[in-house]
Amino acid sequence: MERTLVLVKPDAVQRGLIGKIITRFEEKGFQTAGLKFLWMDEKKAGRLYEPHFGKAFYEPLVNYMTSGPITAMVLEGEKVIEQVRNMMGATNPQNASPGSIRGDFATRIDHNIVHGSDSPESAQREIPIFFEKAELVDYTKDISKWI
Ligand code: UDP
Ligand code: MG
Repeated sequence: MERTLVLVKPDAVQRGLIGKIITRFEEKGFQTAGLKFLWMDEKKAGRLYEPHFGKAFYEPLVNYMTSGPITAMVLEGEKVIEQVRNMMGATNPQNASPGSIRGDFATRIDHNIVHGSDSPESAQREIPIFFEKAELVDYTKDISKWI
């Protein structure tokens, strides 16, 4: 089954939105494979945002993402990568549709509250930055046949 990395970013943690954001994905029907609360260091943030290295927003982005603790999760489901991206909304919350997470909870691109892998290749690269293999749990929920 497809897996993706989701991060509840430092601004969302500070604003008390961890539960609300997790609830969106839980209610949608995705299965949680991994979940942790941590404070990223610069090294981790650098690995995560390596594809953006050298861009104008890179340094402010690393500062933002290391400015406080985050919640990291791995979600599992059919087409979960694309569906999570749709649920997150546009990168710039000013263009994100109402009803999307960024559309409903954020107003600025530099405080856009949530991260989700953008492709299977990104998910494969990003998940191991936060989770060891043994920290990801394989299981079947009895309710999954109803989702
Ligand atoms: N970002 C920013 N300014 C920009 C573009 C991106 O601050 O002009 C930040 C923003 O937090 C975004 C992250 O950098 O979520 C990664 O950018 P990307 O284009 O990968 O957007 P995402 O995949 O998060 O939607
Ligand atoms: Mg991205």
